[in-house]
Amino acid sequence: MIKIKNIKTRIPKRCICPSCGLTQKTKINKIYYKQVKDICLDKEILLNVRMVNVKCLNKACKRRAFNLPVKGISKLSRSTDRLRSEAIAGIVEDNSSLPRISARLRRSFNTTGSKSTIQRWIEKEADKYQFKGNSLALESAS
Ligand SMILES: [Zn+2]
Repeated sequence: MIKIKNIKTRIPKRCICPSCGLTQKTKINKIYYKQVKDICLDKEILLNVRMVNVKCLNKACKRRAFNLPVKGISKLSRSTDRLRSEAIAGIVEDNSSLPRISARLRRSFNTTGSKSTIQRWIEKEADKYQFKGNSLALESAS
């Protein structure tokens, strides 16, 4: 059974718009929940994260609203940063191939990371880990 954990994010009094950079009073536009996969040693865990969408009060700003950032969870991501780091670190350390990484994640963390999902993470984070152009990355991208 999948364990579901509710994450109630803190709403700050003031926030910064990522588009215009204006520090402003937090004006909530809407609140919704996003499901994010996380690692857990004994069972699959799904985080139910409260996301806070706020309005940008800067009239000159093109962005009408934005989400408050949640620590450990990248924008638009459906999995936590540490789950991604685990997948990528595995490739760097063990020279593992994608199916092996996927299997490893399932085995060690009892969580699912499909081959295509992991491939997307790698493409996104390749620069950060500086193994772009490396034979490993080329092998992984095929
Ligand atoms: Zn703005």
